[in-house]
Amino acid sequence: MRRGLLLAAIVLAVIVAIPIPAAAFSGFGSTTADATYGGRMRFTVQLPGGSPDQLALLLRFAGSDSTVVVPVDPGPLSAEFVRDTAAEPITPNTSIAYRWRATNGEEVTLSPEKTLLYDDDRPGLDWRSARIAAATVHWYGGAEAQARHFGSVSADAAAAAETLLGHDLAGPIDIFVYDSRNDFFGALGPGAREWTGAATFPALRTIFMWLGGGSSSYLETTMTHEVTHVVFQDVTANPFHDPAKWFNEGLAVWSEQQSASGHEAAVRSAADASALLAFDGITESFPIGDQAARLAYDEGATMVQMVINTYGRGAIAAIAAAWQDGAGDAEALEAGTGVTADQLYDAYFASYGVAAPTAVEPAPILPSNVDRPPQPAAPATESSAPSASSSRQPAESGGGAGWIPAVIVAGLGMGVVVALVAARRRHASP
Ligand SMILES: [Zn+2]
Repeated sequence: MRRGLLLAAIVLAVIVAIPIPAAAFSGFGSTTADATYGGRMRFTVQLPGGSPDQLALLLRFAGSDSTVVVPVDPGPLSAEFVRDTAAEPITPNTSIAYRWRATNGEEVTLSPEKTLLYDDDRPGLDWRSARIAAATVHWYGGAEAQARHFGSVSADAAAAAETLLGHDLAGPIDIFVYDSRNDFFGALGPGAREWTGAATFPALRTIFMWLGGGSSSYLETTMTHEVTHVVFQDVTANPFHDPAKWFNEGLAVWSEQQSASGHEAAVRSAADASALLAFDGITESFPIGDQAARLAYDEGATMVQMVINTYGRGAIAAIAAAWQDGAGDAEALEAGTGVTADQLYDAYFASYGVAAPTAVEPAPILPSNVDRPPQPAAPATESSAPSASSSRQPAESGGGAGWIPAVIVAGLGMGVVVALVAARRRHASP
């Protein structure tokens, strides 16, 4: 009996001592990705030899210079990452370059890069497409003739913008023509900048059109406007600074008719009402109010017209080229025209018989007029004595010395916050 127990113990010890072969990462197997519009994106990888110490999925979205790193907990022989695109929408026609990164000890292994196209594959959208010049038009249902027409309008618009800006499109454009309002707004998702009948995502080189958005001539005009934005994006792309919004929009509006004459009257009547907007005020964003926003477009278009009339079409290309080289707005305007931005603005307002609008000074904050209830008198204890300040301070400096550094520190802190806010605002501009 005892001998039997001993034998069992020895067998158990031997079993425990035999090392179980640990699964070791031996490289990546196959990688796959699929997506359902408005549902999810799923990325999978096979790990035939086992999982590495650390695993991450690297995602690069079209139009972005940055890589999103997603740490993923692997299973024994595979790993999966699912993104809920209903909760975190992605614009359709976004291509996503992806690869897996394994870190095993000191060794880093990358899987080959592949691409997933996140397309609008909602049921009932039987997309068909045709290539027309630099544009690929996509349509469904019975919209082929209109879609092809928009393709040729976009080709003309692109050619005109390329000639003006002295730069070719950097790549093809995709135009998606939607038949129904629901389908169209379903593609834009929340937060998309939309025009009534079209929305453009220059970084994706993609234009979405809704056939019900207006008359056919309105839609043609809109197509010209939107294609001009894509060419302008190509011409000015740089990692430092987005060109002034009034110039970008002004050029797109001017391009609709190759003229701003239709916008003169609105600017003139705003000038008569002393309501013109300073260009510095419409550099980052346009007013929210409809009337003021329209005026911002009108001023941009008429300024572009004035630059062309005074300095020639070549000035527009030179301004855009300066932006691409990383110039600020004032530097770019001067590079194209030879005069300073302030001189340019002054000449513009003078042509409408008004002085340049001046900045509104913030009103001073007056002392509080709130009647405070009687405050209890501070008890005269040792702790409130000036000795609370740093012992290195001379006694004569009294209690004040303690809070001066505190105020300076608080001031620095506020400066940092303000700078961060300003930097973030710049970053967030479209
Ligand atoms: Zn626009």
